[in-house]
Amino acid sequence: MRITCTALLCLALIGCGGESTSTDINAEAKPAQTFSWKLVTTWPKNFPGLGLAPEYFAENVERMSNGRLKIKVFGAGQLVPAFEVFDAVSQGTAEMGHGAAYYWQGKVPASAFFTSVPFGLNAQEMNAWLHYGGGLELWRELYAPFNLVPYAGGNTGVQMAGWFNREINSMADIKGLKMRIPGLGGEVFTRAGGMSVQRSGGEIYTSMQTGEIDAAEWVGPYNDLAFGFHQIAKYYYYPGWQEPGPTLELIINKQALDSLPADLQAIVESAARAANQNMLDEYTARNNAALIELVETHGVQVKKLPDDVLAELQRISAIVVDEMAAENPLAQRITDSMRAFAQQSKAYHGISEEAYYEARGK
Ligand code: CA
Repeated sequence: MRITCTALLCLALIGCGGESTSTDINAEAKPAQTFSWKLVTTWPKNFPGLGLAPEYFAENVERMSNGRLKIKVFGAGQLVPAFEVFDAVSQGTAEMGHGAAYYWQGKVPASAFFTSVPFGLNAQEMNAWLHYGGGLELWRELYAPFNLVPYAGGNTGVQMAGWFNREINSMADIKGLKMRIPGLGGEVFTRAGGMSVQRSGGEIYTSMQTGEIDAAEWVGPYNDLAFGFHQIAKYYYYPGWQEPGPTLELIINKQALDSLPADLQAIVESAARAANQNMLDEYTARNNAALIELVETHGVQVKKLPDDVLAELQRISAIVVDEMAAENPLAQRITDSMRAFAQQSKAYHGISEEAYYEARGK
């Protein structure tokens, strides 16, 4: 034991001796450059889950960088309105943003693929496609003309189909229904005879209470309970066919990112990856308790969409995705990449995740 300690001491002394002859002492003593960034979001400030993800990210970046990169988080409307986050970061009004890519579908149609594709990848598969299946590279190519670098910034897991004040027993019940349902799911819903409308999270409750919209999907029990949707709708439908594993996004202004030294860029990347996983962990932990409260305390009726309705929505979804893909070569490449990935995921998950759920039972 004593021999080992002596050897270590020698090594330590050798190390110190080496450094003491270094000519970089002055360079090391120079105070490090610090950065103060603004991060704008599409969520109400500190909203559970979604709104806490950018806070978690900012806190981690500040701690990991020892205060060299400080990020101030703004809720929707505090600096810019929810639906102006993309432009604000693109133009440099804020260095960063947190939201959902499908909010920018009107400007960049293929952005919708990077939130969720109806009947597409679940959270586990979406993360795998983005980080190991070429998805993130395609996303960065899509946002490059807008001066933006996207990162996955959270995932809610499979959502709920939404809140309704009438029962959905057949496709006829969707006819004429005005529903807050964004992204590709919204397009499918409109083709199915309903009408999709865009509302930020903070606008849903009032829109539904005043009868401006008939139905709304938001996330799942944990988040929907926080907004109090059980006070304005009676039926809570599943499964969330429209968003089986939606990714939230962290977007960074390219010049702002380039201005960071390499170590701070690495910290940003690691903190984004941590925030992305952390959100899924939190939803997985909290959803069922919230569902029990919705049912037992608030009398919400939880219902499954009929199989034939789901089958029809799936049929329409495939058409919508084909049409989106045909719009331009990049959209086609994104679609092809996702579909190929979905095929291989389904093949293996059939004998792993799916088979295990079945074996485990209820
Ligand atoms: Ca949703």
